[in-house]
Amino acid sequence: MNKKCIICGFNEFDVLLNYQFEKVVSSDNKILNKNFKLLKCKKCQHVQKQLDKSLSITIDKIYTHYEAYSLTNGNEEQRKDGNNISVNRSSLILKNIKKNIKKNGKLLDIGTGTGVFLQEFSRQYNWELYGCDVHNNIKSEIQELANFKKLFIANHDIIPSQQFNIISTIHVLEHIFDLDLFLNDIKNKLTKDGFLLLQVPNISENIFDIFIIDHVSHFYYETLHYLLKQYFPYVYFPKLQIDREITAIASKSKINKIETLNVLESSINLKTRINNLLNYLSNDNDKVAIFGTSPPALFCASLLNFKFDCFIDESCLKFGNILYGKKIKSPQEINDDMKILFPYSKKALNNILKRYPSYKFICLENII
Ligand SMILES: [Zn+2]
Repeated sequence: MNKKCIICGFNEFDVLLNYQFEKVVSSDNKILNKNFKLLKCKKCQHVQKQLDKSLSITIDKIYTHYEAYSLTNGNEEQRKDGNNISVNRSSLILKNIKKNIKKNGKLLDIGTGTGVFLQEFSRQYNWELYGCDVHNNIKSEIQELANFKKLFIANHDIIPSQQFNIISTIHVLEHIFDLDLFLNDIKNKLTKDGFLLLQVPNISENIFDIFIIDHVSHFYYETLHYLLKQYFPYVYFPKLQIDREITAIASKSKINKIETLNVLESSINLKTRINNLLNYLSNDNDKVAIFGTSPPALFCASLLNFKFDCFIDESCLKFGNILYGKKIKSPQEINDDMKILFPYSKKALNNILKRYPSYKFICLENII
């Protein structure tokens, strides 16, 4: 059990949720049976899972059999950019910070996985590329790149200090149990003028993140800022952000030419919103389709006991695949009188409605 907050070390918490439905998902999109407690630190407000032996065993099992992007054969999730064009998440992150990337340098990507971020970086910049992961699942085409130097295996290889101009951790921090060790280590490996590029889910825009059992931290702007400030004097949130996520940059020296967000949104009424969500999904719903195939969609499917019609996804890489016995259809295959559960933000729905104005979406964010 966390005796202490994983950010500030304080030992008193509010219990936001004592989850008893036993239905959760993993970040690699599998359904699991597990209960958990969600805590909020009374001092720094950080939202975190209660860490105990049984949760660490579950998480270890997930990592042993981890399959990133299995529905797209190791290719990255597609997101829509400002012009509604499908791009991969990495290219959107790089586009949002492009003024801050120099012509040459060394990049270390921690949590490399199949290597999707390194691949995108190599398309745009001629830097020396390094990866670091617990397993070697990196795609062969990345290892064959001329500027790809090495994949370090975590807890095994020694990574040199003060060498890297950028260290990227894309959807890694929310998995880390020992944040102090992790961030001190990164700080030590960055050059003086280098920066850490972080991408995490935003709990205030994506409440479903709570039910991803291997996400032990659930950040919003304030708590992420508070954490990073303990290690880096300069913390920035670029003005352009990806829906439902947070991009942050942290550095030892001041960074010029960076346009940042003015107001940092805070997480509100998390407890009420979680309860409203669970109530809604435990009632009988009409026959609906579920939009998306990522963990939020899978979580809804599981709580509905699979009493729904199909998944809908806009990624052509997924059309026709079967996920937990349900077909993944394209939006064009759906009658426009079918109700569609939409487990993402209102902002995301507004973009989708531009493409499918006559469809009957039920936006869960409006209900909760
Ligand atoms: Zn705390």
